[in-house]
Amino acid sequence: MENCTVEKCPVKLEPATAWVPSLQAIRKVIGKVVESVELKKHIFCGRHARALREEGLRMYSYTSTLQELERRQGEREAERDAVGRYSTMYLALKDAGVKPPKKRRKAKAKTATIVEQALAIDIPS
Ligand SMILES: [Zn+2]
Repeated sequence: MENCTVEKCPVKLEPATAWVPSLQAIRKVIGKVVESVELKKHIFCGRHARALREEGLRMYSYTSTLQELERRQGEREAERDAVGRYSTMYLALKDAGVKPPKKRRKAKAKTATIVEQALAIDIPS
C-alpha cells in the first residue's frame, strides 16, 4: 500500500498492518468528510500508532475503519438518492401548478408584514 505517514518512516504498510486515527480526528484535520482516498493519507505503522496513542490519540485498525467509512458512504449515497427522489417529486408538483397549502402562505405573509413594520419604525434621533 503506502508508507507510514510519519516523515522518513521507512515502514511500508499493508491494509492489515496499518493504523489510523479516528474518522472524527481526520475530519478535523482535513476539514471535510473523510473519503476512502483520504484515509490512505493518514496511515501509521505500529510503532508510530503506539507513540500517537501515548500522546492521547485513539488509533484504530485501517481495515475496520475503511469498512466503517464505506458503510457511512453507502448511507450517505442512499440518503442522497432518497432526497433526489423527493426533490423530483416536489419539483414535479410545482411544475404541475400545485400550490402550497394556504395556511402556510398566510403565515409567511404575516412574517413579512412584521418585518416590514419593524423596518418602517422611525427611531427618533
Ligand atoms: Zn511509522
